[in-house]
Amino acid sequence: MSRRLFIAGNWKMNKTVTEAIQLADALKRSCMDYASVDIAVAPTSLAIGAVSQRLQHTNIFVSAQHMHQAASGAYTGEISGEMIRSAGAEYVIIGHSERRSIFGETDNDVQQKIDSAFKTGLLPILCVGETLEERESGSAFSIVMNQLKVAMANLSPDQAAAVTIAYEPVWAIGTGKTATPDQAQQMHAEIRQWLLQNYPSFVAKQVRIQYGGSVKPHNAAILLSQPDVDGALVGGAALNSDSFTAIVKAAEDTNKV
Ligand code: PEP
Repeated sequence: MSRRLFIAGNWKMNKTVTEAIQLADALKRSCMDYASVDIAVAPTSLAIGAVSQRLQHTNIFVSAQHMHQAASGAYTGEISGEMIRSAGAEYVIIGHSERRSIFGETDNDVQQKIDSAFKTGLLPILCVGETLEERESGSAFSIVMNQLKVAMANLSPDQAAAVTIAYEPVWAIGTGKTATPDQAQQMHAEIRQWLLQNYPSFVAKQVRIQYGGSVKPHNAAILLSQPDVDGALVGGAALNSDSFTAIVKAAEDTNKV
């Protein structure tokens, strides 16, 4: 079964609303012809509304970078799934390593956020990945499978199939170090095997597993050509329309579909 490649750009805490609109406009033009790839951008919460408006009726989806699990209430500074939906986004990144390491999000928080995303009609991009110490101590696979197990504990098979998993080795994020294509493929295959063992077989066939960690135009093609790599979650290279479009083009050119 073929899976459409999915390239998502995480803009992190970059770009004013005006700059975000400019980048969205540039991508609208440059990505217009890449019809075989799913594309999403994740601007800051403040820019979701404006960017969603600009990207209406295009082939580019909009994602939030995080959400709170509660529907509403006294959570100063937070945003809910319903707020994200009403601003026009379809996706939400959950459990990014920066949310885990800087803002203290736990696997249980991630589980609640995933559940809440589905309740509000958002599609989660669930980030998992090991630190350098965990890789060097040989526990990378067990760490990642445990993150998945907790995050996806309450999902029905249909919901599980709708999750995008982003495998992002923490040591490769923003560092210029990329997992080798073999390292990425190995972990992605292991994740698919875990899905196969825990859900009906259609889930493992449908779930898209993105690789994230210093994906750039020069290394995108080789990473995306791995059989279990179904796309990329891109940080730094997503901040510029030329480099992000080059990665989208690499996905279109791998022509796995
Ligand atoms: C990320 O933040 O998800 C990421 C992969 O960043 P970068 O591409 O800059 O490593």
